Amino acid sequence: MCANLCSAEPAATVASYRCQIVEHYWVNQRYKYIRLESDAPIAPLTLPGQFYQLNCPTTAEEQPFLLRPMSVYGAGPEPGRIEFLYNVTGVGTRALAMLPVDAHMDIVGPLGNTFTFAPSFRRILVVARGVGLATMAPLVRQAANAGVEITAVMSARTSGDLMDKQFLRGAAAEVHGVFDADGTSSVEAVESLIRRLINTQRPDAIYTCGSHRLLMLLQRILQDHPDIHGEVAMEQRMACGMGVCLSCVRLFECDGDKQFLRVCREGPVFKIREVVGEVEFG
Ligand SMILES: Cc1cc2nc3c(=O)[nH]c(=O)nc-3n(C[C@H](O)[C@H](O)[C@H](O)COP(=O)(O)OP(=O)(O)OC[C@H]3O[C@@H](n4cnc5c(N)ncnc54)[C@H](O)[C@@H]3O)c2cc1C
Repeated sequence: MCANLCSAEPAATVASYRCQIVEHYWVNQRYKYIRLESDAPIAPLTLPGQFYQLNCPTTAEEQPFLLRPMSVYGAGPEPGRIEFLYNVTGVGTRALAMLPVDAHMDIVGPLGNTFTFAPSFRRILVVARGVGLATMAPLVRQAANAGVEITAVMSARTSGDLMDKQFLRGAAAEVHGVFDADGTSSVEAVESLIRRLINTQRPDAIYTCGSHRLLMLLQRILQDHPDIHGEVAMEQRMACGMGVCLSCVRLFECDGDKQFLRVCREGPVFKIREVVGEVEFG
């Protein structure tokens, strides 16, 4: 049976929280940072890898229907403080981007599970692209606080898109930027980089988010390193976000047993080795 089915659920109660926007600004041309303040002490209940469903507003131009899932980019130190980093991409996030400071917004959560992390780890390797950076930033903070060494492979279109400062938020890490613009983000180039890092640094665990291509690459690399733990935070289109609608099921294979799991409920964090890349019908 998949560990994601038997692992203990995070203890927090899922609820809707009315929050006030305290900060909201563009980080670059595509990403916005938003900091919310709730009267409820939600930050200590929120774990790295978990997400909230955001009730994006209705505007004259945009009428988002469903809530939109967003990973927690930061929580605390104040008990009501929750942060998100989001790509302005469609109806919901365009409407969200219009909200001014001091406006209110409802969020539902915390939802989903968390990364497996042991403070006894000596070093972790994080491999991030795009919005994966927002999802893994709290894990980086957790590792830094525990004194665990961090190596980050960050993939982006260009060096200007890297957002390494937003990712590390002051944590010390060895950063390797790879870019589409110069070909260093190709599967072949990233494979040789990661294999070299594994051989020289022997990380205890590898985490990834934000790229199916990188996920499949890591799955292949991990076949040669059974001693390294590997986890991915999956992004799947989802509606309810709490396990009811089944719109986000994905196929996983655990100990030879294939089963569909809900990314929102049994995930979004799964073992890299258990993800099934392609589903064949018929
Ligand atoms: C668990 C989880 C955590 C996420 N965390 C973040 C985050 O921290 N920051 C962030 O920017 N985005 C994150 N996403 C993706 C985010 O939910 C979508 O970008 C957002 O819902 C798009 O809404 P929209 O109305 O603006 O776009 P839509 O008009 O609905 O779609 C615009 C584009 O976004 C893509 N998209 C829509 N929903 C998703 C989805 N669930 N996953 C991937 N792509 C999607 C569509 O394919 C389309 O290309 C996360 C998704 C999940 C499932």
